[in-house]
Amino acid sequence: MDGECLCGAVTVHVSGRHEGQPGACHCSICRTWTGGLFVGFHAEDDAVTVEGDVRTYRSSPFADRAFCPVCGTSLWIRDLETGSGYDLMPGLFPALHGAPLKSEIYSDQAPAYIALSGDHVRQTQAEWEANHPFVEGDVR
Ligand SMILES: [Zn+2]
Ligand SMILES: [Zn+2]
Repeated sequence: MDGECLCGAVTVHVSGRHEGQPGACHCSICRTWTGGLFVGFHAEDDAVTVEGDVRTYRSSPFADRAFCPVCGTSLWIRDLETGSGYDLMPGLFPALHGAPLKSEIYSDQAPAYIALSGDHVRQTQAEWEANHPFVEGDVR
């Protein structure tokens, strides 16, 4: 499965183990980083090959966010706490266009202009942070 940024300077190839279903996050960092809605799917390190120059931004003590330095396309988040894999932006990959949404976290923090329909799993900030204590207060 191949994806690329808006300008084509960065290409991402995913093979092997990956979750084909993306999840959304409404935390304030994701909202600001993407300009609206973060959606990502998980892929293991050995399943991902990246070509091109990439910049990262340490958005919190436990996460790096990668983007294309030419066009600014959001590429992925790497969770430094769990230490493995990528949460890749599905919009880079035409093959995922038909993939249904798996989950929605920080659902109680969603802005009024984004309402995601469907039967996917929803977790509020309190529910998510109860199971992921290192992200507590993941706000700007
Ligand atoms: Zn680019
Ligand atoms: Zn988030």
